Amino acid sequence: MQIILKISELKKALDVARRGTQKVGIVPTMGALHKGHFSLIEAALANNDFIVLTIFVNPTQFNDLNDLERYPRNLEKDIAHLEKYHIDILFTPSEKEMYPEKDTRVFKLSPLDKIMEGLHRPGHFNGVAQIISKLFEIVRPDRAYFGQKDFQQLAIIKHLTKQLELNVEIIGCPIVREKDGLAMSSRNQLLNAEERKAAPLINKILIEAEKMHPSMSPEEISSFVVKHLNSHPLMKVEYFEIVDDQSLMPISSWDDSTNKIACVAVQLGEIRLIDNRYFN
Ligand code: AMP
Repeated sequence: MQIILKISELKKALDVARRGTQKVGIVPTMGALHKGHFSLIEAALANNDFIVLTIFVNPTQFNDLNDLERYPRNLEKDIAHLEKYHIDILFTPSEKEMYPEKDTRVFKLSPLDKIMEGLHRPGHFNGVAQIISKLFEIVRPDRAYFGQKDFQQLAIIKHLTKQLELNVEIIGCPIVREKDGLAMSSRNQLLNAEERKAAPLINKILIEAEKMHPSMSPEEISSFVVKHLNSHPLMKVEYFEIVDDQSLMPISSWDDSTNKIACVAVQLGEIRLIDNRYFN
């Protein structure tokens, strides 16, 4: 695995790889790697000849400065984990390398960015679009791998790729969970012991909620979930929405959508966690 910090060097290495008509896969991450990230790497390795993994904590997608400052960073540990995989390049640029000047681009993501994460984290998806479009321009990957854990992000990146007419296939990979059901996340390591013990409740309630449908209405299920999670002393629900997986529009009746997905964001102590579950 070659570790590259400069865009110009990355481009050179990719030019050489492409001469051999290799298929290039990219796995964008913010580091503090866990099994969720490794599942994306494995999916990329299975279908491409040349893999670029990126680690960059992208400041433009953080709407909360505290969240950016305390975001876990452990490059040495990440590199040690990555030695197990046959990744070709680890691209880990500095902030100055990615943003030599302020990125003022504004992307048209409406209406997909108007609810859930978009509503509660203003500017977040524009920042995601800035970094992903930059990485796609530099790497020009054939395939790009993202987790369904960040379901709305995945939908927005698919939309962005179409809008910019980029020739890259976006692959969504299933959520990887801890044994107790908690969706893996870099932010989980910021939870204290008590919060960590409480966190699997989020997934448990999503499972319960799926079982309640379709005999209960989306509205009844929403009230149940919010009430139940909020009754935990450490938890505060930021949103719970049952939406169509294409339009991301909230549904009021089960007939409104063929593929329904419940998405939730919960503040657990100081840490904000998200999760989701398809209702089959
Ligand atoms: P992050 O480093 O949190 O920006 O995540 C990088 C990529 O890994 C994103 O596409 C995430 O959706 C994905 N990811 C994060 N956690 C998980 C998980 N538990 N299961 C599957 N993919 C994940």
